[in-house]
Amino acid sequence: MITESATRISPINEHSDRSLAASQPASANEPCAFRLRETEDGIGILTFDSPGSSANVFDPDTLEELAVQLRTIECRRQLRGVVLTSEKPSIFIAGADLRALGRWAGRSGETLSPELVSFVESGQRIFDQLARIPVPVVAAIHGACVGGGFEAALACDYRIASPDRSTRIGLPETQLGLLPAWGGSTRLPRLVGLPKALDVILNGRSLPAVPALKRGLIDEIVPRERLIEVACERIRKRSSGLKARPRRWLALLNHRLAAWGLRCVLSRAVSRRTRGHYPAVLKALDVVTRGVVLSPEAALRLEREAILELAQSDVTHNLIRIFLLQERAKKTRVTGADAANAVAKPLPAQQPSTAAVRRAAVIGAGVMGAGIAQWLSSRGVSVILRDVDPERVAGGLAKVAGLYSAGVRRHKFTRVEARQGMDRISPAATEVPMRRVEFIIEAAVEQMPLKQEIFRRLDAAASAETILATNTSALSVTELAAVTGNPGRVVGIHFFNPVHRMQLVEVVAGRQTSLETLQRSVRFVQQLGKLPVVVRDSPGFLVNRILMPYLIEAGELFDQGARIHDIDESMLEFGMPMGPLRLIDEVGVDVARHVAETLAAQFGDRLRVPPILGRLIEGRLLGRKCGSGFYLYEGRRPKPIEELAQFDHGHAARRLTRAQLSHRMVLLMVNEAARCLEEDVVTAPEDVDFAMIMGTGFAPFRGGPLRYADSQGIAQIVDEMKRLAADVGPRFAPCEQLRQMAAAGRRFHTA
Ligand code: NAD
Repeated sequence: MITESATRISPINEHSDRSLAASQPASANEPCAFRLRETEDGIGILTFDSPGSSANVFDPDTLEELAVQLRTIECRRQLRGVVLTSEKPSIFIAGADLRALGRWAGRSGETLSPELVSFVESGQRIFDQLARIPVPVVAAIHGACVGGGFEAALACDYRIASPDRSTRIGLPETQLGLLPAWGGSTRLPRLVGLPKALDVILNGRSLPAVPALKRGLIDEIVPRERLIEVACERIRKRSSGLKARPRRWLALLNHRLAAWGLRCVLSRAVSRRTRGHYPAVLKALDVVTRGVVLSPEAALRLEREAILELAQSDVTHNLIRIFLLQERAKKTRVTGADAANAVAKPLPAQQPSTAAVRRAAVIGAGVMGAGIAQWLSSRGVSVILRDVDPERVAGGLAKVAGLYSAGVRRHKFTRVEARQGMDRISPAATEVPMRRVEFIIEAAVEQMPLKQEIFRRLDAAASAETILATNTSALSVTELAAVTGNPGRVVGIHFFNPVHRMQLVEVVAGRQTSLETLQRSVRFVQQLGKLPVVVRDSPGFLVNRILMPYLIEAGELFDQGARIHDIDESMLEFGMPMGPLRLIDEVGVDVARHVAETLAAQFGDRLRVPPILGRLIEGRLLGRKCGSGFYLYEGRRPKPIEELAQFDHGHAARRLTRAQLSHRMVLLMVNEAARCLEEDVVTAPEDVDFAMIMGTGFAPFRGGPLRYADSQGIAQIVDEMKRLAADVGPRFAPCEQLRQMAAAGRRFHTA
């Protein structure tokens, strides 16, 4: 145990040394991001705590401040060790400032930004300075330690981390079209060996503490409240041992031949997996496997050259932008101006309470109801889970329990957290009091009369402040609200399936939804750790509305003779995570047809439910849940049932190339996305792109359907659609918005 006197920490007077005072940044009198203190027995505690921000990130100023602190440490010869830590409640260091990186990362063909070059170089130089501190340095990690944050920890001699859920450790750079270039690609293989390092870097992994420990990314797991104490103890007990640990086995793992072999095998696997759309992964493979046999200085040079090359691409630009939109969604607030097009009610005099929601109810314990109840309870909300009889409630609870067990296996929860989560769910097979419940989310079967009956009852049972939400996929929120006494408190909160994986939630404003209801709903979604997008009530809302013409066109192409395999492959080649016919199987052919019919009832001029869906339903081929649909689900890989083509199959699409197939499906998505803007379903093009990427996995490297349209040229898209409208059918006629933009030479996005 550390002694009382030894734990006492006092500030180091940074200005006592003249040479140091001279090296202080110009803003030395402003609040600093780093603070250096010293224990009575000579251990420096270097704390990162960016003033006025909930996150610690490295920008040019904070990097420079770190450099100054490191020079102070170098000059204090009596220090016996240093602990690097953070003061933030859930972040150690979240990496480089992506806002700045996004500004400096250029488009393909643009000249390299000098700010970016200097940022990369100074990061490498300063982390190298950290690695060369002559005394042991221990990173005491609680919260996110990712990207540049983990690269800083890698430059330390020893890493200990808290087991908390907020602690995540890894290098997600390749997911942003970049690679770790502040020493991560050089230091990680030298710490854990090539195979494990490549697994983390190429997959862009951020791991909880336990798997991070198993892979050697950290050395110990220690309760949060003891992090500093244990870090100091390690320095006192093993101060020389921490510095140099012999690892002979690394020589084998990182041998020149092993590196060459891994590069050959993995480059084929990576090319297959990324289909050439994500160049950062191949580049990282190259840099890590070549760098591991070079001197650290030469390896760092490889990192540097590679990141500067990657940063000059549209792919990286689009991926960073999506990351920033996610960050924006976490903090977004609904204002009167934003909601003006969606909400008819006047603004309330004051903002609604910001207190977290503690009690909720979910009506319907099916696939979605169980998923929503589990997610809410895992976030500390007490939930009444209601269904029509005890069997269905029990079925729902079993689904919730299954989700918790899977979460424990994947280290998302501890066993105790999972049990506490289960305990927060109160099953209800009969009517129960709802007066104290703040939010009720209805997730019963998709039938308007049934849902209206449920809303009538809820309206009477709940208190006046309770928000009544529906998880409907495509029914009108306005029509549902009309059966209640106060339609202002009715809203759509549309989770996607599976709830625990899909981060996007559409918050749907019915015609009479009040601004306060919208604001509280958005906050609630954020409280749950999901990403809200506010949309106006219209058939299919935003995501399903844009997705459906695409799925319908896939069915249409099948009906006209295209092969299942070609249709799906064409969209995988475009960059979608799953082909459209596989997706119909996943959603359920019956469910897909129901949504298609709802939309066709509104947009009959351009949407026609393809006959194949009806034929599949007649044959009880309902998709994955029944073992077959467009595909047969036996064995490890689903197989397309090409024999379905025997039914009454046309031939107009038989000879289309894959590029032509994907072109037809994507153009319909672009057209519908533009219509959503035209009709103010959302007001900003980035909302459309963000929602389609987060809700459907629309090829993220393309930046969303509207960004894709910009990249192709709106005029070109309009010409192509006119040609298809004449040759194939009027559903391809470009909407007014696209035609006007083409005529005026405008784009959806200016930056
Ligand atoms: P489901 O059929 O799996 O579950 C519906 C549940 O509602 C059943 O358990 C049923 O017994 C129960 N129920 C019926 N009447 C009820 C009543 N009066 N009171 C309480 N419970 C009642 O359906 P699901 O897939 O979970 O879909 C539920 C809702 O979520 C639908 O509106 C659907 O459109 C929407 N949705 C579904 C998905 C999806 O992929 N499944 C995705 C997003 C939204």
